[in-house]
Amino acid sequence: MRIVFIGPPGAGKGTQAVRLAEKLKVLHLSTGELLREACRLQTKIGAQACRTMDAGELVPDDLVHQMVADRIAEKDCQQGYVLDGFPRTVRQAEMFDKLLKTRGTELDVVLKIHVEEPELLKRLAARGRQDDDTAVIKKRLEQYENLTRPLLTYYQDRGKLCTVEGDASPDQVHEEILRAIQDVGG
Ligand code: AMP
Repeated sequence: MRIVFIGPPGAGKGTQAVRLAEKLKVLHLSTGELLREACRLQTKIGAQACRTMDAGELVPDDLVHQMVADRIAEKDCQQGYVLDGFPRTVRQAEMFDKLLKTRGTELDVVLKIHVEEPELLKRLAARGRQDDDTAVIKKRLEQYENLTRPLLTYYQDRGKLCTVEGDASPDQVHEEILRAIQDVGG
């Protein structure tokens, strides 16, 4: 199966994406992780990505799309994957759809994890990471709202979007995700 996860910081997206990939026995692909790795190895993409990531901005669409395109062309992705952190803009989603079409495939489902903002703020504050002070949290949530809202509409219009309530224990959310996947034929 080919699955995309979308959710604001603090929604549990990363945790759920890893668990689902394990369950489905497909790869978990996090573009944040791939970019950090490219940055560490100083690959061509990495050299450019480091600067952008350090500045707290999104890596250019073409760059991140190329990285994903190269990765999903590899053998270990042929059974599917769970994407975590990509697409993040409508342009990325459009480019990705075109790519999937040329490969004769399509996404099975886009899972949105929904958590209300007060709960997100509570969770993020509890993580206590250096980049989790209130002003930064607010900014990241705002950025998510601005960039992601159109992306949700994009997938909704294409009949791909499925919303899962993230305001429960990780086990319960995982179970709900499995039910949602069954509904789309997984
Ligand atoms: P994440 O681990 O998903 O929070 O990503 C960490 C950083 O990697 C982000 O702040 C962005 O700079 C960059 N990044 C990850 N995924 C993408 C993407 N799909 N488009 C652009 N930048 C991305």
